[in-house]
Amino acid sequence: MNAPAYIGRFAPTPSGYLHFGSLVAALASYLDARAVGGRWLLRMEDLDPPREAPGAQDAIISTLASYGLEWDGQLVRQSDRHAEYAALVKRLLQQGLAYACTCSRKQLEGYQGIYPGTCRDAGHATRNAAIRLRVPDLSYGFIDRVQGEYRQHLGREVGDFVIRRRDGLYAYQLAVVLDDAWQGVTDVVRGADLLDSTPRQLYLQELLGFAQPRYLHVPLIIQPDGHKLGKSYRSPPLPADRAAPLLVRALHALGQAVPAELAAARPKELLSWAVSHWDVGRIPRSRTLAETQLR
Ligand code: GLU
Ligand code: ZN
Repeated sequence: MNAPAYIGRFAPTPSGYLHFGSLVAALASYLDARAVGGRWLLRMEDLDPPREAPGAQDAIISTLASYGLEWDGQLVRQSDRHAEYAALVKRLLQQGLAYACTCSRKQLEGYQGIYPGTCRDAGHATRNAAIRLRVPDLSYGFIDRVQGEYRQHLGREVGDFVIRRRDGLYAYQLAVVLDDAWQGVTDVVRGADLLDSTPRQLYLQELLGFAQPRYLHVPLIIQPDGHKLGKSYRSPPLPADRAAPLLVRALHALGQAVPAELAAARPKELLSWAVSHWDVGRIPRSRTLAETQLR
């Protein structure tokens, strides 16, 4: 069988509006797909309703449209996929690959976020408990198309991680792996803040017998004070009437050599230039990029 054609995706979390950093990630993912005639999907990662900003989903969708970033097929919402996540968690529990954890936040203080394994063999009931995936005492690594080799020892650096929270909400790590495989995603292009989630995702893929996608992590755009845009820092939504100049800025952030004549172009023209000139080799090989250093 031939290798599957390229399928990429943009998978925003509607905890806020799209900001310049998410535009850079969305644009890179779009260009990488379109440059090879691939499909580009949109998946709303709305797993955490309490943290969802009202109106954010609609705002994300309309921003993508006004910036000319058209996706293929139907938008998928993770909130429509709870039955699939539940079935997977159940199976992992039955196979002894996951277990219930009743540790309080307080009990986990002092472990720097690496779960000490307290409940591993406790046999707790799953009601009102978090569910954790057992990780092997092994290192998982991959070659990122921009960042190069990245590796983590799951046992020592990550620990057994949560796949379903105590409040019943499913974890990003679980949903992203299941959905990327279900949607046939061949190429994951996203911000470098997710580099350190990738080894956990590789382990899940291996466990579930899924093919491993290729990965490309673009630099995370940060504030002068080192903060990521959008999360701890409240970034304003991307204005619809500034699509063209902000796309140019995002192309600069991705190292693409936008010709001066395109400075006054419309989003559609800019994107079609960028698709035909997409050069992954020009993306800065750095995990972060300060917004203030951009033209
Ligand atoms: N939903 C994640 C985020 O917005 C991105 C997931 C991914 O691209 O794997 O940070
Ligand atoms: Zn525990």
